[in-house]
Amino acid sequence: MENTQNITPLSLAGSGPDPLQDKVAELNARFKHHSATSVLKAALREGVAGKVTMVSSFGAESVALLHLVAMVDRNVPVLFVDTEMLFTETLVYQMELAERLNLSNIQIIRARAKTLAAEDPYRTLHQRDTDACCALRKTRPLQKALRGFDGWITGRKRFQAGTRSALEFFEIEDHTGRIKVNPLAHWAPEDVRAYMEENRLPKHPMIARGYPSIGCAPCTSPVKDGEDPRSGRWRGQEKTECGIHVDSDGKMVRTGVDA
Ligand code: SF4
Repeated sequence: MENTQNITPLSLAGSGPDPLQDKVAELNARFKHHSATSVLKAALREGVAGKVTMVSSFGAESVALLHLVAMVDRNVPVLFVDTEMLFTETLVYQMELAERLNLSNIQIIRARAKTLAAEDPYRTLHQRDTDACCALRKTRPLQKALRGFDGWITGRKRFQAGTRSALEFFEIEDHTGRIKVNPLAHWAPEDVRAYMEENRLPKHPMIARGYPSIGCAPCTSPVKDGEDPRSGRWRGQEKTECGIHVDSDGKMVRTGVDA
């Protein structure tokens, strides 16, 4: 069902003690029974989350959201973080999808060569400290690229990890104050599969080789039948998400940079 109410732009958000929190709660209440497309239209055409971009990993399920976004606004900036540790198949798939979906504004984000040379000269940081490697190659370059945006669209879904089980359409990224828009938050794996089949969308080639969730090559392994689809990501480690930050109490908190 499409929302027909007038929507207040983010810049006019509430007047309570925490206007952004109020605004996000209001958006989640308003869109509670709405579709992914309805949420995307509100974000991209009506500006309910301010100036937004999309962040995509061009991973196993990314094509569904990319297709939905392209139908609403094919000129939206799409940020793709190239950690320079990705599978070659992901880089090729990214180029093919951009062309096929007619996405006109793909922005490839990388850490600066000088920074990589200083902090990971032998490309082995991931073997010693995956959090530091993700921060260097993914989180920090992405946060830099997100400056100037009020929010970003992600493909995160509730089913993907315990840390995402309560995910809503709109959430506040608490260390930046940006809004994350998660149009597929309520989609199940079957919804993604059905959408890809109905729209004849091309699959990431690594899926057929046993990779239902695809990140960087050194940190992604194939998954056996019956295993959690994300169990091949940082296998054997407690880590389940790429992003981390230190909260106001000094605790390490994982954030879902992994789009
Ligand atoms: Fe580094 Fe692995 Fe994180 Fe990629 S997923 S940035 S290789 S630690």
